[in-house]
Amino acid sequence: MEAALTSGDLLGVATTNALELGVDISGLDAVVLAGYPGTLASLWQQAGRAGRSGASALVVFIARDDPLDTYLVHHPEAVFGRPVERTVFDPSNPYVLGPQLCCAAAELPITTADLDLFGGDTALAVLDDLVARGVLRKRPAGWYWTSRERPTADIRGAGGEPIAIVEAATGSLLGTVDAGAAHTSVHAGALYLHQGRSFVVESLDLVGHAALVRADNPDWTTSARDITDIEIVSTTSAAAFGPVNVHFGSVQVTNQVVSYQRRRIATGEIIDETELDLPARELRTKAVWYTIEQDALDRVGLQITDVPGAAHAAEHAAIGLLPLFATCDRWDIGGVSTALHADTGRPTIFVYDGHAGGAGFAERGHAVLTGWLAATRGAIDACECRTGCPSCVQSPKCGNGNEPLDKRGAVVLLDLVLGHLQTS
Ligand SMILES: [Zn+2]
Ligand SMILES: [Zn+2]
Repeated sequence: MEAALTSGDLLGVATTNALELGVDISGLDAVVLAGYPGTLASLWQQAGRAGRSGASALVVFIARDDPLDTYLVHHPEAVFGRPVERTVFDPSNPYVLGPQLCCAAAELPITTADLDLFGGDTALAVLDDLVARGVLRKRPAGWYWTSRERPTADIRGAGGEPIAIVEAATGSLLGTVDAGAAHTSVHAGALYLHQGRSFVVESLDLVGHAALVRADNPDWTTSARDITDIEIVSTTSAAAFGPVNVHFGSVQVTNQVVSYQRRRIATGEIIDETELDLPARELRTKAVWYTIEQDALDRVGLQITDVPGAAHAAEHAAIGLLPLFATCDRWDIGGVSTALHADTGRPTIFVYDGHAGGAGFAERGHAVLTGWLAATRGAIDACECRTGCPSCVQSPKCGNGNEPLDKRGAVVLLDLVLGHLQTS
């Protein structure tokens, strides 16, 4: 295919982002990007497949139903006037550092002289913990790996063994899904898509890490509903801007997939909702959150009954826009919004890292909060829909079926917050 493209026998090719990295193709006349690939680095990489030396080339970007895509078509300077985004990573995250130290110790014992390479005192604390848990042994010469087996470190940072997707009739392995996504995507009764074919999940075995599926082509699709609770564990940073308070810190997120809905594909009509019996999952991670005094919301016309929809819409759009500032996609982050949070006693919007221990995304969001929320407000306001759509405030990953959402209220709420962030 590569040769046929180069020679001109093949006029075009439709591809996943595999072409971005794996195949050496250049000198095409035009590239059509279907949706923002998530990072500017990827966008330029894909666009760069077009263009021969000395000749011009055409790159067409087609926006998808996504708040970030909406923002970009209204703000071309966010593509053309901006350097490639910073990679965000927290090397001191013990969930990341621990397995890396084990791998290092398995190759060569770690000595005190090596500590600086791994973050100094942070590494020392993690090493002490690994020794206490019997994973490493401390001897005068350094820290030693104790097992005969090689340590495992998941370089993607996701926790837990992946779930195998197995076709029940044939026993063939279709693929795997991350442990973290399994409750939502392959619960019993879920419609599962694999390489253009559809399957219905017969059962999910969390102990055996497998989901049994059968090929089927129903006229409905499924969406999981979940309940997320968030508890503040500790606050690293807190700042007041009039009635708005901004925080960064550690949180405990409890998520439970409780049911799923079946919807007709043609009409979107809900057929039924089925309860699921899945265990709650806990995630200790980092979050950025802000609170607003209800009095201030009242003054801009957001009564307490309006706050859930406004805050929920602002939360969704903010999650959609964070990838503009941090190298993540919306599936790496989560959010919770509430008209009255037990720990803050106020209307509160949280955005948290979806990786245990935090991956640096919420921290980056905290550092650029004003610009991030301004872009969020801009994306919502620029969307031409009347009451909210997937291009602005609706989210494909909402565990609450995108209810309630108040697009206009979100703009009012963000204007209030931005007014105080910018004047203080
Ligand atoms: Zn919209
Ligand atoms: Zn939601």
